[in-house]
Amino acid sequence: MLKVQLKNISKSYENGNFAVKNISFDVDDKEFVVLVGPSGCGKSTILRMIAGLEEITEGELFIEDKKVNDISPKDRNIAMVFQNYALYPHMTVFENMAFGLKLRKFNKEEINLRVNEAAKILELEPYLQRKPKALSGGQRQRVAVGRAIVRKPKVFLFDEPLSNLDAKMRVQMRTEISKLHKKLEATMIYVTHDQTEAMTMGNKIVVLKDGIINQISSPLELYNFPVNKFVAGFIGSPSMNFIKGKFVDELGIKFISNNKTLKINLSSILNQNYKLYLNKDIILGIRPEDIYDESNNANILHQEKINVELEVVEPMGNEIYLYFQIEGTQFIARIPAREVPNSGSTKNLFLDLSKLHFFDAESELAIR
Ligand code: ATP
Repeated sequence: MLKVQLKNISKSYENGNFAVKNISFDVDDKEFVVLVGPSGCGKSTILRMIAGLEEITEGELFIEDKKVNDISPKDRNIAMVFQNYALYPHMTVFENMAFGLKLRKFNKEEINLRVNEAAKILELEPYLQRKPKALSGGQRQRVAVGRAIVRKPKVFLFDEPLSNLDAKMRVQMRTEISKLHKKLEATMIYVTHDQTEAMTMGNKIVVLKDGIINQISSPLELYNFPVNKFVAGFIGSPSMNFIKGKFVDELGIKFISNNKTLKINLSSILNQNYKLYLNKDIILGIRPEDIYDESNNANILHQEKINVELEVVEPMGNEIYLYFQIEGTQFIARIPAREVPNSGSTKNLFLDLSKLHFFDAESELAIR
């Protein structure tokens, strides 16, 4: 059963500004959908429209096949967890979680049952009588989630719920929320600007830029087949490397960079589509992990050896980041942690040509 459906939704303001334009996507029952994009791309606005906290300028919103554009937030059966948790400081954890149920006139027994159940799921039982100020950031976060759980909503909305936590706690809470999603068999819509959160948590990811959807895909599809340069650069860490260039050879065997020195033999991987781009400007993309420090003999046809000067070398423990330039363009390679090379030294690296991405320089759309 379809839980939430957005059809051509736009939000604009009196001054003519628009926050989002023509947004359409579906959230199926029990699905975990992540809205991701840089600051100001409109993701919170979309979530707030689903919750009913923001009016929809154009388009239709359905929850369980019922149009809800004009239904008030409290009648939408949706619970939202905010970035700042919005806990009541003078109330205990128990009272904070019980508050929404009291307002809705649930009886005492039912409230006790639901709060205790949520506290158990979230491992908050030892803290039920504490006030929020006596809790850690992660515990407060769990109380905010608890307040949503006790209502047993049809849909959970999360607006950057982990952004106030330190890096370690964020990773921990990320897995907790994923587990919770499975345990509750709930439908969740989650907003973040963090591509790692999006990739690890979502069944489906909606990538937004400037109020417009760029791509809706599963995490792996997004990673392997980004539709344009923005998505390619936004998903993946460190980001994909890009360099401008041209296909110059009629047979498609050479790729030459702006000042005509980087020549890559692409004959083994190019399909016919490249011919449409002959002598036109294109952008080549390669992810840092697709540049190797040792030749991969099994893949010998699809490799191009380059000799580079290492500007910066960052040992990360389990891997090493190498920074270097190709024809004035900054590149980064991510190699396994073996012997750490010296910065300033030169090194042979191998581009995995089978992993290259090509983009139209003008439209920035992927060329396949
Ligand atoms: P962040 O990650 O920074 O929270 P976001 O992706 O959630 O960003 P929104 O808060 O949804 O972005 O805002 C989307 C756009 O709408 C922004 O460019 C913002 O400036 C604009 N906007 C929001 N409210 C108004 C308003 N009342 N009048 C005009 N423009 C607005």
